[in-house]
Amino acid sequence: MTESVPIRVRIAPSPTGYLHLGTIRAALFNYLFAKKENGKFIIRIEDTDTERSLPIYERDILDGLKNLEINWDEGPDVGGDYGPYRQSERMEIYKKYIKELLDSKKAYKCFCSKEELEEERKAMLSAGIFPKYSGKCRNLTEEDVKSKEKDGKESVIRLNVPSNIEIEFSDIIRGKISVNSDTIGDIVIARNERSPLYNLAVVIDDHLMKISHVIRGEDHISNTPKQILIQKALGIEMPKYAHLPLVLSPDRSKMSKRKMETSFDEYIKDGYLPEAIVNFLALLGWHPEDEKEIMPLEELISKFSLKRVQKAGGVFNMEKLDWFNSQYIKILPIEKLAQRMSAIVPSSWTLNSDKFKKALEIERERMKKLSDFNSSAKLFFENINYDKDLLVWKNLPLDSAKDNLLKAKNFLEKMKDSDFDKKTLEEKFMPLASSLGRGELLWPLRVSLSGQKNSPGPFEIMEVLGKRESLERIQKAIDLA
Ligand code: GLU
Repeated sequence: MTESVPIRVRIAPSPTGYLHLGTIRAALFNYLFAKKENGKFIIRIEDTDTERSLPIYERDILDGLKNLEINWDEGPDVGGDYGPYRQSERMEIYKKYIKELLDSKKAYKCFCSKEELEEERKAMLSAGIFPKYSGKCRNLTEEDVKSKEKDGKESVIRLNVPSNIEIEFSDIIRGKISVNSDTIGDIVIARNERSPLYNLAVVIDDHLMKISHVIRGEDHISNTPKQILIQKALGIEMPKYAHLPLVLSPDRSKMSKRKMETSFDEYIKDGYLPEAIVNFLALLGWHPEDEKEIMPLEELISKFSLKRVQKAGGVFNMEKLDWFNSQYIKILPIEKLAQRMSAIVPSSWTLNSDKFKKALEIERERMKKLSDFNSSAKLFFENINYDKDLLVWKNLPLDSAKDNLLKAKNFLEKMKDSDFDKKTLEEKFMPLASSLGRGELLWPLRVSLSGQKNSPGPFEIMEVLGKRESLERIQKAIDLA
């Protein structure tokens, strides 16, 4: 019987830019897996690039994930038993491991200059050999090293990689992967004794943080054998790996980094709901057995399995995102929707919250993005202007529109304020429309209320406007005709 290891997964974003879809997708798959398996989800900040890493990016990444309800159990803000959770605060730890590797000769200092390395590389290429470091500094004696250092020569630290061994791992998504160490060579693992590079820091952190599964983008697949070599050198266990498929553009080319790295905030400003983004991203490379599409987070968790993540790239289709968004706009409780909208619409629109919600109820059926409301619902909140000819139904004279509007007004005036809902209006008003002719009456009525050639129906509009405003608009049209 195999001992069951507690499930612990992580993302390791670099705070060198605002939260983007690539990070959200990696976070989401890790989160879904952790929740499904009763494990822990950890955020570790990879901020060793001190020039490009900024606290405001870290804040943005954490805040954004929180808004998406992708919550973590351990991280730089909440702490945990395996901290610190920022690499910049773990430098003493790395130093110890670098020393251990140097002392045991599993790593060595390399003094080759950039120019020398470039020359070597060119020579190998022209000889038809796979270019990798020649290992020139591997056998320097301690005296050689000391004298070079005394001369002020700069060095980096390379891993002593055994030649011609197969490095193998079984990827949960991609199956068995095997790479020969000769295609890797003695990789650089640290800038100096105090400063590790990505592959080394990741291995140390994943080990100390007891990460059981490394779930990350396929673009890291070439790093995995390097990380395994470092694990071997340090005598530490290999976690399980799952590399998520690439995200592709609709034409199946690799999606541009720029697009994938568009900040999450831009999507929110544009009127995409976090729920819709999460649902959409979850299906980029994974789908449940029943092929269902609309699944809120809880349902995604209950259905998720890494085994069902596909190898082929997931296509990022903007129309699909719009579709998810329109579905979530339809099902969101109206109070919540109104709340989300309030940051997007002109503040005067929300003064009468009853009216605002009624307009939302009508418009949400057609909205793809929250921002669509700003143009489509203008007619409810702003003065309308239109040409009087628009009131004319087919070839009828303008006078007939005027007459019918008068009749409509007289009729509506007798109705109670409380009758101004779509259903009652329709019930009471339709007999009049049938007797005067539907087009003849309803067309000018709708135009008088909307000022537009195409708009929601007159009863829907009147429900939003209420009795007083509806009658005012009809009177205006009568005056105009
Ligand atoms: N900083 C890397 C990234 O965000 C982490 C990769 C990893 O998960 O090991 O792509």
